[in-house]
Amino acid sequence: MMPRFFEVVFNIPVNRCFSYTLPDNMEVKPGYRVLAPFGKRELVGCVTGTSSRPPAGVKEIKEIQRVIDKRPVFDDSVVKLARWISTMYMCSLGEALSTMLPGGRREVELEEYGGSLIVDREFSLDEQQVQAIERIKEAEGGTFYLYGVTGSGKTEVFLQAAKETVSKGRGVIYLVPEISLTHQVVEIFSSAFGSNVAILHSGLTPSQRLKEWLRLFDGEVNLVIGARSGVFAPVKKLGLIIIDEEHENSYKSGSTPRYHARQVAMHRCRTEKAVLVMGSATPSLEAYHLMSQGRLRRLTLSRRLSGGLMPDVEIQDLKNEAGPISAYLISEIRKAHTEGRQTILFLNRRGFSYYFHCRSCGFEMKCKNCSVSLTFHKSRNQLICHYCGYSIRPVDICPDCGSIDVGYSGFGTERIEEEIIKVFPDLKTKRIDTDAVKKKHVLRKILNDFRNGDIDILLGTQMVAKGLNFPGVKLVGIISADTGLQLPDFRAAERTFNLVVQVSGRAGRSHPDGKVIIQTFKPDNETIRLAADGKIDEFYKRELQARKKLNFPPFSRLIRLVFRGRSRKKAFKSACDFKKLFFREKEPSGSSTVLGPAECPLSVIAGSFRYHIIFQSGSFSELHKQVRNILETYTPPSGVYVEVDVDPLSML
Ligand code: ADP
Ligand code: ZN
Ligand code: ZN
Repeated sequence: MMPRFFEVVFNIPVNRCFSYTLPDNMEVKPGYRVLAPFGKRELVGCVTGTSSRPPAGVKEIKEIQRVIDKRPVFDDSVVKLARWISTMYMCSLGEALSTMLPGGRREVELEEYGGSLIVDREFSLDEQQVQAIERIKEAEGGTFYLYGVTGSGKTEVFLQAAKETVSKGRGVIYLVPEISLTHQVVEIFSSAFGSNVAILHSGLTPSQRLKEWLRLFDGEVNLVIGARSGVFAPVKKLGLIIIDEEHENSYKSGSTPRYHARQVAMHRCRTEKAVLVMGSATPSLEAYHLMSQGRLRRLTLSRRLSGGLMPDVEIQDLKNEAGPISAYLISEIRKAHTEGRQTILFLNRRGFSYYFHCRSCGFEMKCKNCSVSLTFHKSRNQLICHYCGYSIRPVDICPDCGSIDVGYSGFGTERIEEEIIKVFPDLKTKRIDTDAVKKKHVLRKILNDFRNGDIDILLGTQMVAKGLNFPGVKLVGIISADTGLQLPDFRAAERTFNLVVQVSGRAGRSHPDGKVIIQTFKPDNETIRLAADGKIDEFYKRELQARKKLNFPPFSRLIRLVFRGRSRKKAFKSACDFKKLFFREKEPSGSSTVLGPAECPLSVIAGSFRYHIIFQSGSFSELHKQVRNILETYTPPSGVYVEVDVDPLSML
């Protein structure tokens, strides 16, 4: 008999499937998405199972409204991975599946992803590259870390490893932090593999994503390049996953399920018997720790290959400077230009808040919905909240004490750009930031112009730190290295260190005379010093010691729960109640600690009050099970939402 009952899961925080019947004129199977009535709404769901008998104890069974797909878009192996995601990150199977599957409903034609950024690639492999490639080739499974200084030719190793895997008839997933900033890599791979590459860049529409997904699902292509969610790609006979710039925070999802692509990749490689190769010049502390324990096999590349040397790095004290750009940095920009070379100026995103404050009483203009300072945008003449978008006109007197001694402080990208244009009216300056990345063609044009030498100074935030490879760059200036250090987060030093090393790595890639100037109000800060001196291992050793003392990751694992709601009292009370449940469940063993409930550092976002509890344990599986057990039956009071973050990267 044909199955007439279908199990459907939805993108809702309820971890169970719901049964539906089907009108006689329709057909559906597991692997299809459907539209089905749910309460008063209609929701998109995924069919995960069938049966010929009705489920026990259910009175009324509704009918599926419509079948969305013309063909299956997922199979058992996708569901199996979704189950793992759902367990590991404590979300429903439906939430996990919805995160993994592309959102598109129609198949459409793909746009050509043309390019011209390829640099000269006529070279023979370096000895260290050859060794690294050999070791990856020989491996039957397991995890490697390609620990290579910036500009040491990691891409080439990844490429050769991918070629080898594909030649054996197996599939490859290549993850990068952000596709639009890694054109060179995409083009190198595209020209090597031709039409056998699926590219999941963020510029694709949901339907285009679906098309790429199906090409992989059908086994038409077996190599995919993608950002975070590329780790879910349905590659057949997976043989290799590559994670480029492993330390990047963008590999961690900021919404449910809060998965880390590295963790998912490790799981997939283990279960699908594939090799995992991660790489960076600045590994995450977690990865570094695993490497020193021998649990990740280290492959070292210690030299710059395309004619460059590691740049000269100098620290510039900002204390007695008149403006945000020191006289020294100004003279070096001028010098680079006279020599026909270019400059990249980097501004830490946290430092780009250019905010209103009162010099009489210290009042700061904050968002009325969020606990963050408003950022002044001169071009729009508005103070804007970067969390919720709230904006107001700037004021001339302090709303708190009435003083007229008010002003703006901090360095905004706009302000720096203005300053640069004033000092160097004859040079061509361009700014790239998140707005520019949204408009792909704009970003692409700027990067192209910069490569061709039509732009002298490239100014930007985090974006300029990631993987850019421009031979003409002589000078890199870091406007302020301090801003990230003050964040209330135990990873503040690690992040600052990564950034300074990565940004510095953009200088001197093809010439031996690269130079980096790090501006700071804290020239004696240890993190900044070690980054400037390129004492990478030294930094990791010290930071690991500090973490060990405080029993922070990688020496323990964390699970963070955020309770948020419009009612401060309710949100706080829910957090307290949850903590009680946790202690009722089981006395935490000696190795686990519960921090909070406490107000989150970002205590209000878009009108919701936020409290968190941080569970910390040396025995992850035990802690994970305990929290999961409670969550399985726990329902927060109405108006309160719980966000679960396993191995959180942000504590804000
Ligand atoms: P990384 O990713 O390690 O920062 P890349 O892979 O971008 O470095 O390589 C830096 C530069 O070195 C690129 O321009 C690349 O073409 C070049 N390169 C790579 N391997 C070699 C080699 N064996 N000889 C000469 N140049 C090389
Ligand atoms: Zn005031
Ligand atoms: Zn806001």
